[in-house]
Amino acid sequence: MQNTATPTHCPYCALQCGMNLTPAPDGTVEVSERADFPVNRGALCGKGRTAPAVLSSRVRLTSPLVRSGGTLVPAGWDEALDRIAEGLSRTRAEHGPDACGVFGGGGLTNEKAYTLGKFARVVLGTSQIDYNGRFCMSSAAAGGMKAFGLDRGLPFPLEDIPKSGCVILVGSNLAETMPPSLRFFTELRENGGTLIVIDPRRTKTAEQADLHLMPRPGTDLALALGLLHLVVAEGLVDEEYVRERTAGWEDARAAAMAHWPEYVERITGVPVPQLRETVRMFCEPETAMVLTARGPEQQSKGTDTVSAWINLCLATGRAGRPYSGYGCLTGQGNGQGGREHGQKADQLPGYRKLDDPAARAHVAEVWGVDPDSLPGPGRSAYELLDALGTDIKSLLLMGSNPVVSAPHAAHIEERIKSLDFLAVCDVVLSETAALADVVLPVTQWAEETGTTTNLEGRVLLRRQAITAPDGIRSDLEVMHELADRLGVEKGFPTDPEEVFEELRRASAGGPADYSGITYRRLAEENGVFWPCPTEDMVVHPGTPRLFLDRFATPDGRARFVPVSHRAIAEEPDEEYPVLLTTGRVVAQYQSGAQTRRVDELNAAAPGPFVELHPRLAERLGAAEGDPVAVVSRRGRAVAPARITLGIRPDTVFMPFHWYGEGRANTLTNPALDPTSRMPEFKACAVRVEAVKS
Ligand code: SF4
Repeated sequence: MQNTATPTHCPYCALQCGMNLTPAPDGTVEVSERADFPVNRGALCGKGRTAPAVLSSRVRLTSPLVRSGGTLVPAGWDEALDRIAEGLSRTRAEHGPDACGVFGGGGLTNEKAYTLGKFARVVLGTSQIDYNGRFCMSSAAAGGMKAFGLDRGLPFPLEDIPKSGCVILVGSNLAETMPPSLRFFTELRENGGTLIVIDPRRTKTAEQADLHLMPRPGTDLALALGLLHLVVAEGLVDEEYVRERTAGWEDARAAAMAHWPEYVERITGVPVPQLRETVRMFCEPETAMVLTARGPEQQSKGTDTVSAWINLCLATGRAGRPYSGYGCLTGQGNGQGGREHGQKADQLPGYRKLDDPAARAHVAEVWGVDPDSLPGPGRSAYELLDALGTDIKSLLLMGSNPVVSAPHAAHIEERIKSLDFLAVCDVVLSETAALADVVLPVTQWAEETGTTTNLEGRVLLRRQAITAPDGIRSDLEVMHELADRLGVEKGFPTDPEEVFEELRRASAGGPADYSGITYRRLAEENGVFWPCPTEDMVVHPGTPRLFLDRFATPDGRARFVPVSHRAIAEEPDEEYPVLLTTGRVVAQYQSGAQTRRVDELNAAAPGPFVELHPRLAERLGAAEGDPVAVVSRRGRAVAPARITLGIRPDTVFMPFHWYGEGRANTLTNPALDPTSRMPEFKACAVRVEAVKS
């Protein structure tokens, strides 16, 4: 590779910040500002700035590992690939194709996610594929599909935020998760707009807000219903908009009217005057937005909660209009693209549905297979992991670390250990990889080219900037080799552009239509928003703003979905009187598999902690830094106390990036949303105990 700067994108979150990478003479890689990319205009958080450290980390895997006599030992590629092919073949022969599971990740490029879905369905013939993105945005996706007929995280570019009159940010701490995005909200306020943050913690994001509401975890649904009640009661419904552009208002209205403000105050803990002030701030300006993130979405009623926030937008005419709308802040780097191209249990490329005969026929033709040979929808992520060792005997896992990131993680760790065979592709020996029978070392972001789709629906080209170390192969090469060994010699190219060309054809005519996007365009333009269909020799510009003329429903109208408050799956009681909520810190990313390998990030965020209110700390007799135990019905985690007035006294918070005794997901509740199958990461009942030394 040349020693010149390559414009590319960060490997971590869904902002997909632009950056330049330059190989240095000493073999390291320098990150420099890339001001031309409008999402971050050169700004990067510490994770992005230090991302190259993982490329040259001393704990990086540089050789395949195979289990021998109980331990993982280095092996050649042929031996490792043969072992995986044998393991999967044996399972398939003895137990049928659905006994082979495949688990992907929201960090995989579009090309990898597409190929993984095709590999599962064409090579293994299994329906059992899902990915960790299910834990990220599935409730918002389900809510968006119900209301708008389409799921794209943001239906407008981030650059629209400062032009809005008011933004309600629900359950997002983007000052820590996506720091460069904060400037859009700063500009919003500089332009005279207002920011309302809804979060049980006084986060760094909440500190920027004009109004901060602190509801009990798990009550966002009631809160949204209470606001809609007030909108109706105060005559603020946009009747013309509701008449012209929506359907189903009467039922949604009736459901909201059962949630009078005093009732909502009792459920949420948010005082009625704050509810009224929120409605005033949201309804006064011409334009307004609601943006949700994991707080309201990672609940066993996440889909209904999203529907309630969308209902508020629809009733006030704040959707499908300039600088107004509902959006979801997707979390993982390719959480958006990863859910569009087939690694989700119920989907085919182009956001087509696996149970739609026309979709199956279209994709089967592109793949050169009989539509009847394609399996049907499989289990969702948690259900798939929970079936390991029982119905599912072998697992191929790519780009995920569920031993840390899945709910009820100790149970999932046991399920993984009970597998007949586990193969993992990763860059380091993650806690999940350490349990594998075969581990394959694969290339990282800067060592390969591929596309991702950021939280705005903007398809981006992440370019290769350096050559991978010897002994490492790409995930595409791995799937090519495995397909070959399993009897499918064609259809699994190793060149990402070739895969993308096939993805374009597979997505053509689907909801997430990429057919008008090419690598060449992506190299010349700063990303292209889908849908971008091919139209007879006419270059489609892409679609930065959705729904301005019509929604993606058969009649073009958005749908109200009538929803009502219900309790979280596990309310506090005498034995477990406190609520636990979980989340992220600025210096770590997801399960920490990459960021925990970066010294600078570890120095900033060395380990887990339990954030708690001084009143709760006093009851326990715990001082700052004292170890405290958090105990749920599923297990116990211990971490130092971090005492702050910025959390409700009935709630504790733990970040989930670590393994070991401070693993937050030991505690979390896998109760699933009935529609999205999202686990309830954000609220479960616990007790907190002082730890005697
Ligand atoms: Fe990377 Fe996200 Fe940080 Fe941007 S905000 S540098 S994309 S981790």
